[in-house]
Amino acid sequence: MIVVMKVGSPAEEIARLDQELREWGLTPEKIVGQYKVVMGLVGKTVNLDPEQIQELSPWIEQVLRVEQPFKRASLAYRNGESSNVVVPTPNGDVVIGKHQAIAMVAGPCSVENEEMIVETARRVKAAGAHFLRGGAYKPRTSPYAFQGHGESALELLAAAREATGLGIITEVMDTAELDIVAKFADVVQVGARNMQNFSLLKKVGAQSKPVLLKRGMAATIEEWLMAAEYILAAGNPQVILCERGIRTFDRQYARNTLDLSVIPVLRTLTHLPIMIDPSHGTGRWEYVPAMAKAAIAAGTDSLMIEVHPNPAKALSDGPQSLTPDAFDQLMQELAMVGEAIGRWPK
Ligand code: PEP
Ligand code: MN
Repeated sequence: MIVVMKVGSPAEEIARLDQELREWGLTPEKIVGQYKVVMGLVGKTVNLDPEQIQELSPWIEQVLRVEQPFKRASLAYRNGESSNVVVPTPNGDVVIGKHQAIAMVAGPCSVENEEMIVETARRVKAAGAHFLRGGAYKPRTSPYAFQGHGESALELLAAAREATGLGIITEVMDTAELDIVAKFADVVQVGARNMQNFSLLKKVGAQSKPVLLKRGMAATIEEWLMAAEYILAAGNPQVILCERGIRTFDRQYARNTLDLSVIPVLRTLTHLPIMIDPSHGTGRWEYVPAMAKAAIAAGTDSLMIEVHPNPAKALSDGPQSLTPDAFDQLMQELAMVGEAIGRWPK
């Protein structure tokens, strides 16, 4: 249930109402929007009568039930206002959200060695990226495939951050590694395969770094938003939703089906910012530029692109990785689409 306060509601009145609702056994969450304050009420609200709450203060504009199973993730919970995720980086704050410039994330699938990660970071930074991505702990289908260099790769990401000022996005696979990953990452990634690892979701929700939540490869939109709800409910409001392709019937010509239709759908359901990953979404570097441009035109807030200095030699996901030159070229094409919709810095 959400309580929408009238514009200009006095702070003392909001505090009094907060106190009163707590006496009712509720835990109100105050959300300060651009114009209005909203009090979110989550928990045992089924037996509450909205009219009874309405009578608590003349400053209450409206009391609404959130009909969806996801509450904190819902658009209604923010009274229809989209939220921003703000990520401090050495180069300054990067703000990811519906009314912001497109945030660009680029880098290799896996961190392989210092030279390649620092070199890739320099190249993607020069091309205009805001974040470097790179896996230290890799979720691989085969136990015999390269599993990532673990903690030492995190140190290499730190070196690349130091060299370029780019924010770091890297995946956490297991609760046991969360502390160390969160220490090095500016944004902690939960991968598609872990989207419904509820223990992990609770833990990333209980730490303070923003979380990039990838859509499970067979997850419905509701399951995905419920996974985000776990993180929000555990206390972390900084969640970005990343579409990375879902499993459909054709695997011959594309690795996954990139579901760009989630962009307008999510806009009607949630306030959370959106990222699109056309690299895992298609599995082939040749298809990445078209889908990246389409994603910007469709209204994504950010893009994740895999870039490797020598894709033929990559230890993971070479076939879907762009070279730094191709990424540079792509950024120039994306700028044209981004400028056309007013979401690309001049
Ligand atoms: C990745 O980002 O390298 C990755 C493993 O992604 P996903 O979880 O989307 O497969
Ligand atoms: Mn990958």
